[in-house]
Amino acid sequence: MSSRIAIKKLFETNPVGETVTIKGWIRSVRNSKAFSFLVVNDGTHLDSMQVVVDASLENYSEISALLTGSSVAITGLVVKSGGKGQAIEMQAFSAEVIGAAGEGYPLQKKASSLEFLRDNAHFRARTNLFGAIFRIRHELAMATHEFFSNRGFYYLNSPIITAVDGEGAGEMFKVTTLNMENPPKTDKGNIDYSKDYFGKEVSLAVTGQLEGECHALGLGAIYTFGPTFRSENSNTKRHLSEFWMIEPEVAFADLDEIADLAADYIKHLVSHALNKCSHELDFIWKLPFSDVDATHKDILENVRDSEFLKITYTEAIEILSKSGVKFEYPTNWGDELQTEHERYLTEKHFQRPVIVTNYPAGFKAFYMKQNDDGKTVRAMDVLVPGIGEIIGGSQREEDIDKLIARMDKDGMDKSGYWWYLDLRRYGSVPHAGFGLGFERAIMYITGMSNIRDVIAFPRTPKSCDF
Ligand code: ATP
Ligand code: MN
Repeated sequence: MSSRIAIKKLFETNPVGETVTIKGWIRSVRNSKAFSFLVVNDGTHLDSMQVVVDASLENYSEISALLTGSSVAITGLVVKSGGKGQAIEMQAFSAEVIGAAGEGYPLQKKASSLEFLRDNAHFRARTNLFGAIFRIRHELAMATHEFFSNRGFYYLNSPIITAVDGEGAGEMFKVTTLNMENPPKTDKGNIDYSKDYFGKEVSLAVTGQLEGECHALGLGAIYTFGPTFRSENSNTKRHLSEFWMIEPEVAFADLDEIADLAADYIKHLVSHALNKCSHELDFIWKLPFSDVDATHKDILENVRDSEFLKITYTEAIEILSKSGVKFEYPTNWGDELQTEHERYLTEKHFQRPVIVTNYPAGFKAFYMKQNDDGKTVRAMDVLVPGIGEIIGGSQREEDIDKLIARMDKDGMDKSGYWWYLDLRRYGSVPHAGFGLGFERAIMYITGMSNIRDVIAFPRTPKSCDF
């Protein structure tokens, strides 16, 4: 048998008159007296190949009895399509059953709800919607490497198991090999982690930033792109317990430079998606599942082509207080910006992405550079319509005394951070970086409204299947 060709390739080249072999999964079978009509998808393209199987084929009875979900290899002639839709279809010379699907395959022709598909995430990649989403996800990952690599950033694989809390927020999953039924105890009655696998208490990383800073202060500029884990109990449409983050870190950079980098990166992602995934995006925007419609294209083109707005936290609070809107959470100076506030700013007030800078130190992480006003830190959040925060970043505190003072104020145990403090003792330089939640970026570009639908196998509180 000749080797398999991707259906995508056929739709790109329309090789009418050629004999080819495709392999894929049957989306539907329609039988008439004279022939069977198979719709076959192989995951390379949104559109499926229509295949006519003539009743004269020797295994016709086997083929015409196939159920949706079966895998097949088809060798046949590419011909002009009679129907509307695609330019080509195939006339089978031979059809081979690779794996028949039994009764009960969950993806039947009637449209399935997103909830149902989440429960059947092992088959989501075989649907048009999730095929599209995961091809887009792939393209955005490639665009990320392209963007940073072209700008001289080195790709760092920061550790996943770590002994420090990089955000100082205490939302970490412990990693242990101790017998939890009967763990060793210290004299004081606490669990004795010195007996654990690593001889200390360790967790899954909430960020790669601190290690990223080490390498930026050596290589100049790095980015991480890896999984991060947070045991926060936020059961929202925008939070996962395991998500992927892209974290660039740049030596000798200040907050302004990193804000511009963030804007350029988002524009690059948007532009790449519009160029490479327009077929997929147009398809998703037509569905009722996404938060957006076809006008999302204009919105994204506008994001790609216009400057990002920058305002300070203090200005943001003024806008919110004067808005006349009754928010659930207060908007006094010093209050945290909640999602409702972020969304008001970016969706209602500015109606485009906005970068908010210089937040009060109180609710921001210990490592952020303290401003001279003694109240605010050089932090930024990038807010986008439909989501709110998509990026969080800051210039880092490079002054050892100020950093230690802040860690003490937060009551942190500094002993595990000796190496992080060393960066400030030996050749300290201004530096800055940010973290973009990869799934939030995919949500933003596709318009999908639940983060569980843009990651292959979502992990959320009380849910870890597959
Ligand atoms: P939020 O306020 O939305 O919880 P955060 O302030 O905790 O975000 P950071 O610690 O600044 O977020 O993390 C950087 C980025 O990582 C965020 O801007 C967001 O895009 C993404 N992110 C953070 N937490 C999650 C999560 N639980 N699930 C998915 N993405 C997340
Ligand atoms: Mn959070």
